[in-house]
Amino acid sequence: MKDAVGREINYLRISVTDRCNFRCLYCMPEKGIEPKSHPDILRFEEIIEFVKAVAPLGISRVRVTGGEPLVRKGVVEFVRQLRALDGIKDISMTTNGSMLASVAEDLKKAGLDRVNISLDSLKPERFHKITRWGRLKDVLDGIEAALEADLTPVKINCVAIRGFNDDEIEDFINLTRNHPIYIRFIELMPLGETVWGTDHYLSAEEIKAEIKEELLPASAPAGAGPAVYYRVAGAIGAVGFITPISRHFCNACNRMRLTADGKLKPCLESDLELDVKTALREKRGEEELRRIFMEALSKKPVCHHMVPESGAGYLRRMWQIGG
Ligand code: SAM
Ligand code: SF4
Repeated sequence: MKDAVGREINYLRISVTDRCNFRCLYCMPEKGIEPKSHPDILRFEEIIEFVKAVAPLGISRVRVTGGEPLVRKGVVEFVRQLRALDGIKDISMTTNGSMLASVAEDLKKAGLDRVNISLDSLKPERFHKITRWGRLKDVLDGIEAALEADLTPVKINCVAIRGFNDDEIEDFINLTRNHPIYIRFIELMPLGETVWGTDHYLSAEEIKAEIKEELLPASAPAGAGPAVYYRVAGAIGAVGFITPISRHFCNACNRMRLTADGKLKPCLESDLELDVKTALREKRGEEELRRIFMEALSKKPVCHHMVPESGAGYLRRMWQIGG
């Protein structure tokens, strides 16, 4: 299925909750969020109904995200139901990893293929500071459990922030030497409830300049998204750069997003969203769900307009969209 400018769309990111057990400084406000009441959030059966309707259009890859997807009860069973849908070939999850250790095996058995785990510091105190509530050890245990459960390739998302974790770039790269993991540095986007502004934005080129060792081109792992990958000599893992700001990848965008409250978003940045929940609740049927999907597709923006300082004027924040 192609959009109006010929991009092949095969990937749906599903946010299953806007709640989170962390309050990352660049993402959520400290006081937390006004939690949506249960009726506002799509039930898992409703999400499954939607995915079942759009899979025949060519959606074959789904990512479960949040908020923090593992805080929502029943997520393992949800993955099992996704796996059972015809046409769904690849299921991944983006998680902060803090609750992963105890469910990694169950998720794998239910049919999850792989995980992306967010990790912005390898220093316990700093990690606690950026997440406001988190314990580094829980996430490291989660990464280990993901590797053991073969939720691979395990990708680590690290938002690079000037003056906060730019002195840890080498430490992150060192992790790739002996572990089969893919560290991806992500440029800070102006989509958070952020305490950090333009001064803290760090471009991929600036991150690369910090790296003393030669970066050899590396092939992308399975399920590769917009990251460009490199390897330091002898490493079994790799390092990637995701550059939504300095070099956007809109021309290769293959995704749509479903929010926890049932809105279909054709672009991470754009405030444009189409209501899916009402159609589901009014039982308007698969054809109508497909029609809404195709309408969103036809309105998918050609490109986003984010720049580091574009401010906080967006309708939704990252925890409401799922990254
Ligand atoms: N809670 C899960 C997690 O942290 O992985 C999933 C949701 S989180 C919103 C998805 C991704 O968005 C995370 O990797 C997070 O680091 C990233 N993210 C959140 N706010 C961001 C921002 N302002 N700029 C860049 N990345 C951001
Ligand atoms: Fe929660 Fe993920 Fe946002 Fe951090 S980035 S506050 S873990 S949703």
